[in-house]
Amino acid sequence: MELIDFKEFEPFNQLRKKIGTDEFGFFELFDPAIHLTGSERSDLENHGLLLRPKNIRVLPDRTLAIKNSRVLAYIPDESWYRLHREYPTYHLALCSQLEGLIAEYPAQEVLVTTKIADDYKLLKIRSSGEVGTASHGLVVCKHCLHVLRYRDYDEYRNRRRGYSQRVLNDFSLREFYRFYQQYPLSFGKSSGSDSPDLSSKAKKDE
Ligand SMILES: [Zn+2]
Repeated sequence: MELIDFKEFEPFNQLRKKIGTDEFGFFELFDPAIHLTGSERSDLENHGLLLRPKNIRVLPDRTLAIKNSRVLAYIPDESWYRLHREYPTYHLALCSQLEGLIAEYPAQEVLVTTKIADDYKLLKIRSSGEVGTASHGLVVCKHCLHVLRYRDYDEYRNRRRGYSQRVLNDFSLREFYRFYQQYPLSFGKSSGSDSPDLSSKAKKDE
């Protein structure tokens, strides 16, 4: 089938004249391999997706993404945090801790979500042995802020400790996504190949 050349398509050219532009604009054809479908977006926004961290796309700036949306990731298991004596934390980037997790516990799944909330769901084993979920406040991972140098956050420079502590305390996910657009991300032709994309590695051993 021959496609119409829309640049020569008179009704569209009339329309361009009407809205007062000579520009053709920019559009990206939908490709389900790189663009989230409507149902994937709603899954990510609602209950999230459970997967191994190595299957998360790592963008060239080290933030985490699923297809064309940035995501955050956390271990959705209350007992994990109790066992490791950690406060429940979410990651925004491939930080030292997430790399450590992938190296030490490659089978450990994380929940990825686009949801911006105060509380996130954690699996909880009740005293009866029943598994349920409980909402829990999570904090941002400071190693992620460090790897991104978010607002000059530096976890090792003593001189800036007070400043960095304030950046951590005042952190807001909503503000973070103003810096790092959450969705939709647009990829140039070359961006897929030079990014440290863990998903391509992951596919081989699945
Ligand atoms: Zn992190």
